[in-house]
Amino acid sequence: MSKERGTLKVIQGPMFAGKTTELETAVCMYEEGTAIAIKPSIDNRYSEGRLVSHDEAMRNESDVGIPAFNVDREHSDFLPFLTPAVVLVVIDEVNFFSFEVLAPQIELLLAQGIDVVAAGLAYDAFKQPFGATLELAEIADAVVELTALCECGKRAKHSYRKKPIEGQLVVGGADLYGACCDVCWHLHNPQLEENGV
Ligand SMILES: [Zn+2]
Repeated sequence: MSKERGTLKVIQGPMFAGKTTELETAVCMYEEGTAIAIKPSIDNRYSEGRLVSHDEAMRNESDVGIPAFNVDREHSDFLPFLTPAVVLVVIDEVNFFSFEVLAPQIELLLAQGIDVVAAGLAYDAFKQPFGATLELAEIADAVVELTALCECGKRAKHSYRKKPIEGQLVVGGADLYGACCDVCWHLHNPQLEENGV
């Protein structure tokens, strides 16, 4: 049995740009059981075992989002979740995986003719490259860049942290993070040097 190679699409953008919603929409277009969702196990912000966007989380219902498999971010292994019926795998928050861990898994899916859509932050709140996202975009067949809305009304390309907590891997929602334009990012981070992003 030879199947055509699958394609990899990467969706990147700041917090609150609708990345998870894009993944949910993709899954919902497929017949039940033919598309599965994966997320790193570090990400239990709103719900274990479901993909839940920030908008859905605000609705405060228990059955929001779509079912998702939690995968250890250090040793991602998608194989246990695959059935012969699966033709699409979506992966949320790929910034929490390393490229070295994620890329071989994705390659395996593509080689089996399974399409992959991966979403994540390309940069953290300090404009530093975040996890696997940028490198996945380099090997992707298609890249979609989403933006959010800054409080000043401009398009928001960046994320910023509202409270002074150190470290890149700090999981949070609207209480801790926002999306902003470049001008406002500098207002939020007056102490940080521009690094050209
Ligand atoms: Zn702004």
